[in-house]
Amino acid sequence: MSIFSATRIGNFGTSIFSEISMLARKHEAVNLGQGFPDYDTPDILKEIAIEAIRKGKNQYAISSGERILRHAITRHSERFYGLSFDPEQEITVTSGATEALFCTLMACINTGDEVIVFQPYYDSYCPVIQMAGGVPIAVTLHAPTFSFNPMEIAAAFTEKTKAIIINTPHNPTGTVFSLQELRFIAELCIEYNTMAICDEVYEHCIYDNERHVPFQKIPEMTDRTIRISSMGKTFTATGWKIGWAIGNERIQKAIRCVHQFVVFASATPFQYAAASALDMADEYYTSLANDLQKRRDFLFDVLQQVGLQPNKPAGSYFILCDISGVTSMKSHDFAKKLIIDHGIAAIPPETFYHNPSLGEHLLRFCFCKNDDTLHKAAEKIRLIPALI
Ligand code: PMP
Ligand code: GLN
Repeated sequence: MSIFSATRIGNFGTSIFSEISMLARKHEAVNLGQGFPDYDTPDILKEIAIEAIRKGKNQYAISSGERILRHAITRHSERFYGLSFDPEQEITVTSGATEALFCTLMACINTGDEVIVFQPYYDSYCPVIQMAGGVPIAVTLHAPTFSFNPMEIAAAFTEKTKAIIINTPHNPTGTVFSLQELRFIAELCIEYNTMAICDEVYEHCIYDNERHVPFQKIPEMTDRTIRISSMGKTFTATGWKIGWAIGNERIQKAIRCVHQFVVFASATPFQYAAASALDMADEYYTSLANDLQKRRDFLFDVLQQVGLQPNKPAGSYFILCDISGVTSMKSHDFAKKLIIDHGIAAIPPETFYHNPSLGEHLLRFCFCKNDDTLHKAAEKIRLIPALI
């Protein structure tokens, strides 16, 4: 046993996003790995953040979040989903969705509690469940549609189930859960007296005629769901790390208890920019989705042309490919080869599965990149079959 680290972090290792980004930098590869846009935040938001700094908004914010932002989050929730929450008691501003997830799990999970997660899952869920003393129970989203089998999810619920994490639109598959699917999950949550933690950071990254339905919209679930989002994806500001958790007062009290001892408060000037951002006109949100859809379609076509068997995502900004048609290599090795030999970086999703072998034939490409990056990437991807 090491004197320098606790057993709870025993098997964590370095996140796959850091590993791939580091390797991409080293080999100057075009990076379609880690999910961040390489185009900039809208100027207007930068000006508001700068103005807030100039006006002296530089000390600790209110721990639960600046009032102006909590009120803007309420207005946004009413405008897009018709869901009203009390900005004083039912909203907590956090340092990104990551911190909101951490605080919610720490606030709600006891030792031995089971938490259902859909695999492939976002990489922070299981380590945090583990740190909280809980036990992650994985339910697989199956190819080619990356949806769940109702029998499998029903079998995952037990009397030990404390919570389910629902990520829609889903990273890395791009699946958007339908109202029917959400209703099915809700019935199980009610039967087993389970709460839901909903990660909806891609709520506005949604394509074609899909519609994002928050789980909280199901009346029986409104009071037992925490809805988490952030400004990272919607406002091209992943580095500002402003997120929030929306949900009933009793859960919020517990979340705020944890949040005050993790960061106490999140970056003050960015909260002012986030408040203005959320109030932007509907056209902003529509053009964000339309613009991303064009990028998705461009990259999808390129991946399809070379036989990488892409899955067309209904939401998020990732395309998951089945590489088995072009290589027998495992995804992690293939991803490294692509970076080193072909100058293109993507994320191998083995670590997003309880049983990594389920992800060994998959590879995730990110399309929230500027035209120049996408065209450079396309040139490199088109060469893959010839060079393998
Ligand atoms: N959840 C999912 C599904 C994500 O893809 C990400 C990464 N962007 C996060 C949460 C973390 O969001 P944030 O950067 O706001 O902490
Ligand atoms: N959410 C981003 C992705 O899925 C990365 C976030 C991170 O680097 N932790 O790629």
